[in-house]
Amino acid sequence: MKTMRSLWGKAPFQFELRELPVPDPAPDEVLVRVTACGICGTDLHFLRHNAEWTPLGHEVVGVIAATGARVERWREGDAVIVENHTACGVCAPCKNGRSLYCQNLTSYMDDRAGFADYLRVRQDMVQSYDAQALAPQQAALAEPLTVALDLLQRADPDLNDEVVVFGPGPIGLMVTRLAKLRGARRVFLVGSTRSTPRGQYRLQLGLQMGADVVLSQAEDDVVAVIKGAVPQGVQRVLVTAPPRTLPLAFEIACFGGIIGLIGIEFGAGAAVTFDVNAFHFKKLQLRASHAIPNHYFPIALDLLARRVVDADLLRSHTFPLDDFERAFRTLADSQQATAKVVLTM
Ligand SMILES: [Zn+2]
Ligand SMILES: [Zn+2]
Repeated sequence: MKTMRSLWGKAPFQFELRELPVPDPAPDEVLVRVTACGICGTDLHFLRHNAEWTPLGHEVVGVIAATGARVERWREGDAVIVENHTACGVCAPCKNGRSLYCQNLTSYMDDRAGFADYLRVRQDMVQSYDAQALAPQQAALAEPLTVALDLLQRADPDLNDEVVVFGPGPIGLMVTRLAKLRGARRVFLVGSTRSTPRGQYRLQLGLQMGADVVLSQAEDDVVAVIKGAVPQGVQRVLVTAPPRTLPLAFEIACFGGIIGLIGIEFGAGAAVTFDVNAFHFKKLQLRASHAIPNHYFPIALDLLARRVVDADLLRSHTFPLDDFERAFRTLADSQQATAKVVLTM
């Protein structure tokens, strides 16, 4: 029996590199040989908070290794990315043209995942990409870019808007670039601190991604600086930071401002208190982004292939799968200058 490596994790920061049988694809499935997979903040959440063993990795790039009996559109050797959540196409929201709100999503993430040699998925969960234009470790940035694109679409910044982005992680850095592409007048990128190598590195990357001003909550008076620059308040706030950031976002938003949010936290930090009267009288809007199903892969792959979004700038580290422990510990360590960390198989 042919076997493969498959990485599982649970809190507190425990790993198992399991040896599992290479699965056979069902008739409507493909078997993907994984070539690269990025580490997401969600993987770190699993390692910090999840008591159950969980398969890790959902930013998957690979090559078709085998096809099920009913599969006609894929051939062995095709370079693909793998969606981690895919709409059903037949429920009422899907049939009403609102597949973003599909009630019957398919995901592989319950019993298998991307930090593995092979991944078996339904044939409509893969999309081809141009392997001449993108190496696997570059294409691995496509999934987080779809997350940033979803946040952009939800908050929908307009031409010449003043935009604040909270959180200079990979999603915040990408949405900084996307907001500038959308015609933002200025983007203010706000991190938590510049006193750590990671904090300083990410704010520096923010300038390279097009931020006009970078600020840190620990070292700068963020509200004073932004209100000084934009006295009427900013039109859009894109929050890719913990929920406690929200009251600050409401404070710096203008009358009628829109706040886009992708910023979960497990435990007590999930609850936030804010002044509803101020929210009401400012006519603010709060819009949640949760990029499942994974829409926008074609746009993401094209932006990466044309270097409009620079995958090499955003990817700070690449490790082979066997070095997983070093990869995860590097990403979790604020003393390391990291952005996106990718594992290759
Ligand atoms: Zn993710
Ligand atoms: Zn559906």
